[in-house]
Amino acid sequence: MCNTHVLSVSSAKAPFEKKTIERRELRPDDILIDIKYSGICHSDIHSAHDEWGGGIFPMVPGHEIAGVVAAVGSEVTKFVVGDRVGVGCFVDSCGECEYCLSGEEQFCMKGVVSTYNALDYDGQPTYGGYSQKIVVTERFVVRIPDVLSMDVASPLLCAGITTYSPLKHWNASPGKKVAILGMGGLGHLAIQYAHALGAEVTVLSRSMNKKNEAMEFGADHYFATSDPNTFNELAGRFDLILNTVSANLDVDAYLSLLRIDGTLVNVGAPGKPDQYNVFSLIMGRRSIAGSLVGGIRETQEMLDFSAQHGIVPKIEVIRADQVDEAYERVLQSDVRYRFVIDISTL
Ligand code: NAP
Ligand code: ZN
Repeated sequence: MCNTHVLSVSSAKAPFEKKTIERRELRPDDILIDIKYSGICHSDIHSAHDEWGGGIFPMVPGHEIAGVVAAVGSEVTKFVVGDRVGVGCFVDSCGECEYCLSGEEQFCMKGVVSTYNALDYDGQPTYGGYSQKIVVTERFVVRIPDVLSMDVASPLLCAGITTYSPLKHWNASPGKKVAILGMGGLGHLAIQYAHALGAEVTVLSRSMNKKNEAMEFGADHYFATSDPNTFNELAGRFDLILNTVSANLDVDAYLSLLRIDGTLVNVGAPGKPDQYNVFSLIMGRRSIAGSLVGGIRETQEMLDFSAQHGIVPKIEVIRADQVDEAYERVLQSDVRYRFVIDISTL
């Protein structure tokens, strides 16, 4: 066992407190990681505020983890002490079902074990990355390429893979018109991936405020959704809309922006159900879909792709005592574009 300082909330919407917890004894295939940086995902806020229900408290959020291997179990083969590594949204899966075998552990039939706010297969609660140390089975650890510094690498472990994976799956590529809806932590990375994959990229944000940065990230066009003309001008335009918005939207209005056979893919995950009119689908043979993070193999591919294409998040590094304030600022959309906790301040 090893003790580690963490930031934890005792109940929904409670402020963060510094506590000490124990991480498990290393199993043969486990890795002990000294965490250097931990990104703040909007999912951390949905969870710590128990907006999705079923929250397990006390809770230590954090699934955008970048750190250094501090110790390895006796049967670990992929990593040695000192390696720069990342851990994302999941820390275990059965490893045997068809989805695990095809590298889509997020859809494990036994139930993938989330990095925090979950019970592992021994029934123990999992605690995430707002922490100095974490123990993870090597199967769920990925390698951070040398050219990526630790602070910017951390948000890639969730925001990066959550946008890269659906853009690949729904074939964002040359000739395709792709809209990125919402320009926050996920959205600003989605623009960069869609551009690098060769698609024609349009950003749909509430205001014109982020236009200059959107163009720097690789957008070809930018529209404000607060302007009703936007919906007339863009009707029937897109092959793919990637919705990264954390709140409920007028789904029909966005479906009207799809071409025939176009797809609206949701990664944004508001706590309350959305509504839409089936005719919005029927009249254009359109689809609504969703996507969950990505598998481990694809997470490594995304990191290597990011390194190769110079794709990094724009971050604001904060101290451990600033997390409550950072949550408030994310809720006000006052973040450009990801908060990252410097774990040395914990
Ligand atoms: P974020 O940084 O807060 O970005 C969300 C963006 O949505 C904001 O920047 C804003 O963009 C837009 N937005 C916020 N409130 C809105 C409202 N009321 N109406 C319209 N637009 C609004 O959050 P994030 O970390 O990128 O996460 C986004 C969502 O993805 C969250 O719901 C999170 O839980 C979910 N998520 C899902 C997965 C998955 O696997 N599916 C993984 C990670 C995260 P503009 O200012 O440009 O309008
Ligand atoms: Zn996340």
